[in-house]
Amino acid sequence: MIKVEHISKQFGSLKALDDVSLEVSKGEIVCLLGPSGSGKSTLIRAINGLETPESGKIYFEGEEYDKNNAAKYHQQRLKMGFVFQHFNLFPNMTVLENLTLAQIRVKKVDEKQAKDTAMRYLTRVGLSDKRDEYPNKLSGGQKQRVAIARSLCMNPDIMLFDEPTSALDPEMVEEVLEVMQSLGKEGMTMIIVTHEMGFARTVADRVVFLEDGHIVEENEAEAFFSHPQSERAQLFLSKVM
Ligand code: ADP
Ligand code: MG
Repeated sequence: MIKVEHISKQFGSLKALDDVSLEVSKGEIVCLLGPSGSGKSTLIRAINGLETPESGKIYFEGEEYDKNNAAKYHQQRLKMGFVFQHFNLFPNMTVLENLTLAQIRVKKVDEKQAKDTAMRYLTRVGLSDKRDEYPNKLSGGQKQRVAIARSLCMNPDIMLFDEPTSALDPEMVEEVLEVMQSLGKEGMTMIIVTHEMGFARTVADRVVFLEDGHIVEENEAEAFFSHPQSERAQLFLSKVM
């Protein structure tokens, strides 16, 4: 579903990604792990087209990203959901409006259908009673579940998450992870940047460990956590677990 081939991305003199390659198959759940500054966000943002690598190629569902082919590029990006650490809900809109806006404006779905879809996914994340609330009336965990529901309304083929629980109070982390886990069980392809090691260990099929813009180690999740191969991964795990 995703193929990243030898991408590099520099910010000034800093190499945020240095010759990174990665493949993710349909239905797979891949967690990106690594210390702060290792390039996780840059990688997942490049996969979503939010960063443009200087070199290398990215393919989505077999087709290369090509920003010069704007129509196709737009269609490709529509099939990816992206959930951010800080939710990015529209504060001046109700929950329901947050969920219908892109469906109506971007996908040209009619309002009735957009609302039906929105209510279906709001119910899915356990928040159908919040449809008429504004985001500032919701807890962090509720906001993030709304953000996930909003992404799902666009019927994505893959969901990308960049530290979806890092901004949450500890007691709200679980409710968001549960929604993500249930999505995985239904076969959603997901790439997840996370510091939740327990979640990565139980939910991920595969773990990709980055440091200094490189993939240092990549393995099936249980194998990675029980027998990390590289010294850097061993050190990282000894600090976070
Ligand atoms: P991570 O998500 O693993 O913490 P990032 O991908 O955000 O790491 O960052 C990798 C490196 O690139 C870091 O050193 C970071 O400071 C740098 N970086 C990321 N985005 C930018 C940017 N927009 N401008 C300059 N430097 C950046
Ligand atoms: Mg990051």
